[in-house]
Amino acid sequence: MISFDNSYARLPQTFHRRAKPAAARAPELIRFNHSLAEELGLDKGGADEVQFAQLFSGQVIPVGAEPLAQAYAGHQFGHFNPQLGDGRALLLGEVIDRHGNRRDIQLKGAGRTAFSRNGDGLAALGPVLREYLVSEAFAALNVPATRALAAVSTGEQVVRETMLPGAVFTRVAASHIRVGTFQFFAAQGDEDAVKTLADHVIDRHYPDVRAADNPYLAMLTLIAERQARLIARWLSIGFIHGVMNTDNMAISGETIDFGPCAFLDEYDPRKVFSSIDQRGRYAYANQPGIGQWNIARLAECLLPLLDADEEKAVEAANGVLKGFGDTFQAEWIDLFKAKLGMTGEGADDRLLVTDFLELMHQGEADFTLTFRTLSKVAGGAAMETLTDLFTTPLGLSDWLVRWRARIEDARTEAQRQAAMEAVNPALIPRNHRIEEAIAAAIYNDFSFFHRLVEALANPYAEDPETADLRVPPTPDERVTRTFC
Ligand code: AMP
Ligand code: MG
Ligand code: MG
Repeated sequence: MISFDNSYARLPQTFHRRAKPAAARAPELIRFNHSLAEELGLDKGGADEVQFAQLFSGQVIPVGAEPLAQAYAGHQFGHFNPQLGDGRALLLGEVIDRHGNRRDIQLKGAGRTAFSRNGDGLAALGPVLREYLVSEAFAALNVPATRALAAVSTGEQVVRETMLPGAVFTRVAASHIRVGTFQFFAAQGDEDAVKTLADHVIDRHYPDVRAADNPYLAMLTLIAERQARLIARWLSIGFIHGVMNTDNMAISGETIDFGPCAFLDEYDPRKVFSSIDQRGRYAYANQPGIGQWNIARLAECLLPLLDADEEKAVEAANGVLKGFGDTFQAEWIDLFKAKLGMTGEGADDRLLVTDFLELMHQGEADFTLTFRTLSKVAGGAAMETLTDLFTTPLGLSDWLVRWRARIEDARTEAQRQAAMEAVNPALIPRNHRIEEAIAAAIYNDFSFFHRLVEALANPYAEDPETADLRVPPTPDERVTRTFC
């Protein structure tokens, strides 16, 4: 039993199209997220794996669901497309979770919709497993993101560059409203729809702004702040989203669309993994600038709501964009200071962080392992455990002298180490491990996938049983390109 309350379906017809999931020959449950189901208040009512497979592949539409595809537009790699929309996803409906929060339940890969254009509306197994792994890893890392409720294999073949097994991914989000949803209506000059959408977003995500002098400006400000903080969090864990198109940026501030995403192995601010990002638009260090660019596109859609006087509206929007930069900078330095074990304020804090990153870049140091090892050095481990991670440790010992002087405070070494280890994960979903899980799954062996999901639930622990999952890739194992 799922108690749906579908507020998006009640919005005007132009917001969505009804959609019907495609038939699947032999749906089989790969994984179901029982703890998330619990949080959502889904009453399993004795449902078994077969019933879950039917439900989360779209073969059975639960009572109260109103499957629909949402309309949206978007800037893809900087180019505007006025009509995208859910081409391979459909919203089953919304539920109110145990904390009183409204959550979307969406099937991804359940067949064609009115927005599929030439696409098949299907998802291949690999991307489904990647999204499952990375979104659940994000949950454990406390980075806002959509969640994985279920993965089901369909028994159908999907045509990509080769034939691949098909699957359906069930995603849970605070909402699936994107920057591109606003763009869809703004591009048509439909100001009423922009306002209707903004009011829906306020009710759903930012109810406190109703009390503000200018609720729409307050809403835009909060959206920008959440996005700026989110991107700072990505950088702090070495994450590269891969496709930061405006249709892949959620208004809720959750990370959405884990497509050709990846985590840094060795630190390189220009790093790109996505096979489609040939010019490095969405490289690691470009993400804050792109986030701000996307928020500028959102602000343009909202101009008529910000002020009747266009000049004043533009001024207000520019204030928000500046605020995005300020929020990002403040959050970024806080996160990286914590990663380095720095408390309080020092005059050279920013320089200390950027100098370390520069040394990591020159020394091709593994992002995750370096910060984790530095935490242990703060706790008294030998300096060599750190320098060994750098191909050129040149300059590192000078930096360590400055760092040691800076982190001196009332805490014991053990306390410093514990504080650093609490923000520097030992385990992230390493690209080569994700690929390994996918490769085995294609041959119907899901054991490594399950092991990874379970291990990633404890990213700050150093369980001896997951030691192999924490090791950076060997040159042979290294993933250089990711696909969606
Ligand atoms: P994405 O790259 O997943 O953010 O998708 C960009 C756009 O392409 C969205 O409008 C998707 O719905 C659409 N799309 C992606 N893959 C497919 C597919 N296999 N079939 C239909 N539409 C798709
Ligand atoms: Mg997308
Ligand atoms: Mg990927």
